[in-house]
Amino acid sequence: MNFNDMDLRPEILKAISLMGFEKPTDVQVKTIPYILENNKDLVALAQTGTGKTAAFGLPIINQVQLENDQIQSLILCPTRELCMQIARDFQSFSKYIEGFKVVPVYGGTSIDNQIRSIKKRPQIIVGTPGRSLDLIKRKVLKLGSVKWFVLDEADEMLNMGFKEDLDAIFQEMPKIKHTFLFSATMSQEIARMGKLYMQDTEEISVGKKNSGSDNVEHYYYMTHARDRYLGLKRIVDVNTDIYSIVFCRTRRETQEVAEKLVADGYDADSLHGDLSQAQRDYVMNKFRRRHLQILVATDVAARGLDVNDLTHVINFSLPDDIESYTHRSGRTGRAGKKGISMAIINMREMHRVRAIERSINKKFTSKMIPNGKEICEAQLFKLIDKIKNIEINHEQIDQYLPMIFEKFENLDREELIKHLVSMEFNRFLDYYKNAKDLNTTVRESRPYEQGSNPRARQGMTRQGFSRIFVNKGEVDNMNPGYLMGMINDAMGSKRIKVGKIDIKDKFSFVEVESESVGEVIDGLATVKVAGAPIKAEISRSSTAPANRKNNNYRGKRPSYDRKRY
Ligand code: ADP
Ligand code: MG
Repeated sequence: MNFNDMDLRPEILKAISLMGFEKPTDVQVKTIPYILENNKDLVALAQTGTGKTAAFGLPIINQVQLENDQIQSLILCPTRELCMQIARDFQSFSKYIEGFKVVPVYGGTSIDNQIRSIKKRPQIIVGTPGRSLDLIKRKVLKLGSVKWFVLDEADEMLNMGFKEDLDAIFQEMPKIKHTFLFSATMSQEIARMGKLYMQDTEEISVGKKNSGSDNVEHYYYMTHARDRYLGLKRIVDVNTDIYSIVFCRTRRETQEVAEKLVADGYDADSLHGDLSQAQRDYVMNKFRRRHLQILVATDVAARGLDVNDLTHVINFSLPDDIESYTHRSGRTGRAGKKGISMAIINMREMHRVRAIERSINKKFTSKMIPNGKEICEAQLFKLIDKIKNIEINHEQIDQYLPMIFEKFENLDREELIKHLVSMEFNRFLDYYKNAKDLNTTVRESRPYEQGSNPRARQGMTRQGFSRIFVNKGEVDNMNPGYLMGMINDAMGSKRIKVGKIDIKDKFSFVEVESESVGEVIDGLATVKVAGAPIKAEISRSSTAPANRKNNNYRGKRPSYDRKRY
């Protein structure tokens, strides 16, 4: 199907053609005719970068009544940046439609200007839930005439805690309208929200649910936690043309990594929630213009950053939830290009890689952190290319040439090349001269395997079960019922088999079916006891954790107990 077959206004066709849209994307093929023709609600799931904005934007713009000066569509999205981006996209789509107005409203900036803009009577508002609700309460934003209510990145709005705001806004909506819920991923909460807000709903899903982009390859590098940063540097150094977002989990980590990179001479900066809006804009602009090669960011801060063509996405830390991984990796491999999503993990994080694999239905490739030689080679070739391709300013240089030739008189061609290349290259040679191997020897853990040694099996968990260590015990008021409750909460609707529960003084053990142990551990990572996150990991011994500290498995292959995971 083509855009021309879609019953869209010629002004829109002209505008998108100018934007370089030749063929509709899969999600657009499904949603545009649907929204144009149907009176039903819609849940649409599609990966990041598949053109969801146009998928709801074009059919809504097409149906807006220009002579009607009421707000006809409200589009909610999680961040200020997304608001601006969607509003920008809508402006581009409607460029040739006279009298069409869209206004973005978001927090962190003067509400007065936004009130003034709304008074100019746009047909469409794009807003964050918080600011929209504020404007509703001030009686500026009136939703009585809304016909199309869109929740874009609904999953992320929930993650960011907008549930109550969304509910409140929904109360303000007229009964008769169309609600469209767009999301890259489906979760139980999204499904619940769909049920609550929508009637007679169609679900459109493009590609596999929760699956990543097909153009993206997934790599993991395994190193010790303490070598993570060095590993990152090497990965950056070997990929000489890298243009990448490095994802971290916390603001603090984000800032630390960025500061180290800057101190080490990289074109890097950070994006996180502690920055003022002006600082954020500044950093994002630098990155968009490629004045930065590396942006270190948290998931939330990176949302809405309209940068599609990253060469690599780097997971400095894996995210807590798999949806975030899908979002992260969706930032590379767009528009048919190949992309690479890399995770730098330590030995204990293998189960998380496996959990992601199961969810996105794709395998990670195990990669070695490059050694000094490989990096020096890569840098050398880059340097040679740079020398070959450099633009020569003949006018200026010609006058000095006789003098330059004279100075180089004693060097033959070969010598001269050596000198030239060494000039820049020595820096890398020096740095990586005695570079150690950062890869850990344990490439793959075997978490759920029973030892083949019968003695090792003694006192072990039941067949088919794995034992999880939890760092809370009786002193924390832990009891079997509470622990079961935590596991049930963490697993949502999924029921799993639980075996023996053993509550000790300061920690506990629980046996769960081996096939779900990774998921349970991931799930427990999101649970908090008395406000503090708990720690859960595969238990190595029933007496844990004291001897763990002495257990030195750094360096060369340790006396590694295969049951350790
Ligand atoms: P999503 O919301 O699904 O993550 P976007 O709507 O932000 O994706 O679109 C991603 C990019 O693809 C944008 O730069 C957009 O302009 C571009 N795009 C969308 N639809 C098409 C199309 N049919 N042809 C070419 N580019 C498109
Ligand atoms: Mg989008």
